[in-house]
Amino acid sequence: MRNILSVEKIEKYYGSKGNVTKAIDNISFKVDEGEFLGIMGPSGSGKTTLLNCISTIDNVTTGKIMINNSDITRLNSKALDKFRQNKLGFIFQDFNLLDTLTAYENIALALTIKNMQFSEIDKKIKAVAEHLEIGQVMNKYPCQMSGGEKQRVACGRAIVTDPSLVLADEPTGSLDSKSARLLLSKFESLNKELNTTILMVTHDSFTASYAHRILFIKDGRIFSELIRGKDTRKEFFNKIIEVISLLGGDDNNVF
Ligand code: ADP
Ligand code: MG
Repeated sequence: MRNILSVEKIEKYYGSKGNVTKAIDNISFKVDEGEFLGIMGPSGSGKTTLLNCISTIDNVTTGKIMINNSDITRLNSKALDKFRQNKLGFIFQDFNLLDTLTAYENIALALTIKNMQFSEIDKKIKAVAEHLEIGQVMNKYPCQMSGGEKQRVACGRAIVTDPSLVLADEPTGSLDSKSARLLLSKFESLNKELNTTILMVTHDSFTASYAHRILFIKDGRIFSELIRGKDTRKEFFNKIIEVISLLGGDDNNVF
């Protein structure tokens, strides 16, 4: 398996003298191409900070983050823009779609900044829409869509550029359970059929059970890892719940 992401001894401090928060405290891990990795942890454990450092929205205080063998903590701003446009797909908890654009236009935006021909853009959007079952909302504006539809459109926007790595921060956080299941089954099929590498942050055990490996973080450190192996999703879910209760969470599937 080809290594796609390598996080090497990163630390992240917020604030300055007298009022410093250590959000990430020496985290290292690797992700191979085609992996579906979950990152779990209670609120405030550093999940979003970690994802923001990998996505280059934020920068680390110390350490290296290698993506496709290039250290992204050392890129200049032009190289960073190019990297974000070409290599990464983001999915946020609250969708982040542009309200004045239709679903189609929201997805197209990710491609128009790449100087692609209209016919090619159209072809790509239609393929993604079919895969995510959002063809019927392509002409709707975000305010006319359900939460689940919006999140699948956001997912379409993230993957239409064929990114090396898809980063999702609590992607099911605003969804009801039926929409969450549908979105997660789409993640599963993207991962399986298109070999898309997915890094998904969540505090929810059900959501995490779709991943193939889970890193648990607490107070900015990795404290445990679970690998799904041949387990069914249900068996994996039970193991996740076990780890969480061992580590002081409640049974309510949230830390
Ligand atoms: P999670 O996503 O796991 O809930 P975060 O990564 O958002 O956790 O936060 C980790 C820690 O860093 C928390 O203690 C939080 O208060 C702190 N933190 C996050 N962002 C900032 C910021 N911009 N300035 C100061 N502290 C921050
Ligand atoms: Mg967060």
